[in-house]
Amino acid sequence: MGKVLGIIGGGQLGMMITEAAKKMPEHISKIIVLDPVVNCSASQVGAEQIVADFKDKDAIIELAKRSDIITYEIESGDSEVLKSVEKDAEINPSPETLKIVQDKFLQKSFLAQNNILIPEFLQIDSILDLKQGLGKFGYPSLLKARRDAYDGRGNFKINTPAQIQEAFNYFNKKNLMLERFVPFKMEVSIIAARNTKGQIKTYPLVENIHEENILRQTIAPARVTEKVAKKAEEIAQTTMNVLKGAGIFGIEMFVTKTDEILINEIAPRVHNSGHHTLQSSKVSQFEQHLRAILGLELGDTVLLHPTVMYNILGPKNFEGGYKPIVLSEQNVFLKMYGKKISKPSRKLGHFNLVAKQGETIDLLLKKLETIKGKASINPA
Ligand code: AMP
Repeated sequence: MGKVLGIIGGGQLGMMITEAAKKMPEHISKIIVLDPVVNCSASQVGAEQIVADFKDKDAIIELAKRSDIITYEIESGDSEVLKSVEKDAEINPSPETLKIVQDKFLQKSFLAQNNILIPEFLQIDSILDLKQGLGKFGYPSLLKARRDAYDGRGNFKINTPAQIQEAFNYFNKKNLMLERFVPFKMEVSIIAARNTKGQIKTYPLVENIHEENILRQTIAPARVTEKVAKKAEEIAQTTMNVLKGAGIFGIEMFVTKTDEILINEIAPRVHNSGHHTLQSSKVSQFEQHLRAILGLELGDTVLLHPTVMYNILGPKNFEGGYKPIVLSEQNVFLKMYGKKISKPSRKLGHFNLVAKQGETIDLLLKKLETIKGKASINPA
């Protein structure tokens, strides 16, 4: 008999987990998502939905009562509430792991304690702390909300002393931390999985290109030397060894000009930079996540074909319905998330551009330039 899977969050990540779960009927009999948006992305592909806020305690209790196993696509869940429902459903990654990872300050403190390199950081409780911190790190530095920050919206880059007050006010009394600015030469990430029995597997290092703090493009594999790829892989392994919990973890890193690798942050969930695995790998990150939380043998993570993933984002200055996107090119795999309304920078879909025999990353990137335009969002 398959298990009932509960997912907190039914956006695109919950949607792709649901699609993977539907292909495992022997292990998962039903999927229920908790999401505040009626007819959320996951509910459109066959998940039942509890319509409620992610932090609604009664809704989480209901989800736990109706599920055998719970996971999440967002890291902002209330770890205390989740802990209290563990008697009803197994939760992966565990509330203890979530508690550390969801707070950037606790996460970075944990990594530092385990001798994993990260940018220098400080806790900020007052404007005086901020001034002192900037005295230490200089300009620019990044003021960050410790929790509940998505797609860079929780960051303020302070370039001059004149911005101190504005930066502090921007966060409206949230818990904060300050980070030394890293002049990186590349942003990279590793998608890592651990199953409930302790088996660990990592996907190859990928390169991420952000625009205005939002991931725009992932290049798999990353264009780095073997030495850098190996070092990043070792860091991911070390991180997984110290950070407990089952499931997929997205480990974002900076490669510095001297080829040092620092962890920027870890997401305790399937990750946008792992979407290429839908076509580039034998087992996608979504299936791997399910295999991990169900305690199944983890799947093969070898990259079968170089692949470029491109995010389709809502254009600036537009909110409303949009025309359907059609891409008919060979080896281009479009995935739209069923969101009816475009909003500025909203993630509406992505496509993967997969290399045919012998095609290089450079060629894929050239092809991407010709396809991008066809994937732009236009008002309906
Ligand atoms: P975050 O939401 O903290 O992952 O940050 C979003 C983006 O801001 C990252 O992908 C980087 O491009 C940039 N960023 C964050 N922290 C730093 C840092 N310490 N130094 C330089 N850039 C950063």
